[in-house]
Amino acid sequence: MAKSANIETQLVHLGRTSADDVLAVNPPLVRASTTVFPTLAAFRQSYHGIAFETARYGRSGTNTVFELQTAMAALCHAESCLATGSGLNALIAVLGAHAEPDKQILVQNDVYGPARVYAETELRRFGCRVSFFKDLNQLSDLICDRTTLVLIEVPTSLTMQMLDVRQVCNIAQKFGVPVACDSTWGTPCYFDAHGLGIDISIHAATKYINGHSDVILGLITGSYEKLASTRAWCSLYGTHVAPDAAWLGLRGLRTLDVRMERHQENAFIVAQWLSKHKLVEKVLFPVLSTDAAHLLWRQQFSGGAGPFTIELAECDETSFSRFIDALTLFGLGTSWGGFESLVMPALPHNLRATEVLPDVGRRVRLHIGLENAGDLCDDLDGALSKL
Ligand SMILES: *Cc1c(COP(=O)(O)O)cnc(C)c1O
Repeated sequence: MAKSANIETQLVHLGRTSADDVLAVNPPLVRASTTVFPTLAAFRQSYHGIAFETARYGRSGTNTVFELQTAMAALCHAESCLATGSGLNALIAVLGAHAEPDKQILVQNDVYGPARVYAETELRRFGCRVSFFKDLNQLSDLICDRTTLVLIEVPTSLTMQMLDVRQVCNIAQKFGVPVACDSTWGTPCYFDAHGLGIDISIHAATKYINGHSDVILGLITGSYEKLASTRAWCSLYGTHVAPDAAWLGLRGLRTLDVRMERHQENAFIVAQWLSKHKLVEKVLFPVLSTDAAHLLWRQQFSGGAGPFTIELAECDETSFSRFIDALTLFGLGTSWGGFESLVMPALPHNLRATEVLPDVGRRVRLHIGLENAGDLCDDLDGALSKL
């Protein structure tokens, strides 16, 4: 591809090397369990290549997966990228790879719920100490010579908390501890994780990278050195990405920046409108200048994504159901990052973060899609009137 530092051009041209072979715009979808080699020498050689970057056996990827990984590594200014079967699988691979009996992993309080559950159950069962922190002070107090990994997420799922990423990295660096970050919300368009000092960046490509709500896919970026243990873990545990999922991930990348611009614009309009509504107690969205995390967001992100959380005025279950069921443009479901708007009750048991989530006003997570922003406000207005 013609070299360009501009992400719009990169998104269109990266990861298409094999398209030339088939005289098409898109790279061919290569499905394979067996990789066949022309000679014994080539067969043997394949076992000296880097796992998940060399055609060897279907489980370690086909050219379609390699195209996506190469594109993602370049977009994220990283040496390497590892694709996994899901975003959760990516988080678990990074956590699992750094776990050792009697060592310690530090996890930010409100990270993606299932990753937290894995840390609390499996990692502890394995004998690894796991501690949770909510801010820089707690991180500084907990980090020690036994620490093998710090895992953060900005902003955190559902609670939308923000950390100073550079400070987290400074603290960890003093102890030689790698920092991993769930970068799903910001996407490679708006969040330069490695530029801020993150060693291992994790994306649920299920969300914006695919962008069409029809694929489950994870991506991990970093240097070969920093990804070495995670790569070995993925090899050991038989991690695999379906080439079909990788192909759709690549297709999603082509329009990522265009979609993000609309998500950003719409989310801002809807969030501002909601923040003025009398039945909305709070809007948790760092993009709004009134949000406590706004300054940190401005310093660390070049744009805002579509998911945010609102807290409704106190209401009973019946009127809450009436509100949710009256929405017509917002689908009711888990996940986000597709072209469509979604609504999901933010259940406290998903979070464990009871101190930030009193079960008084109902918290609701919205994902603002690509529809007309005025239509979305009208839909919310109609549903709020049912509260
Ligand atoms: C959805 C999500 C994940 C998990 O991704 P899956 O592909 O659904 O497993 C991880 N982190 C964040 C922030 C997410 O929103």
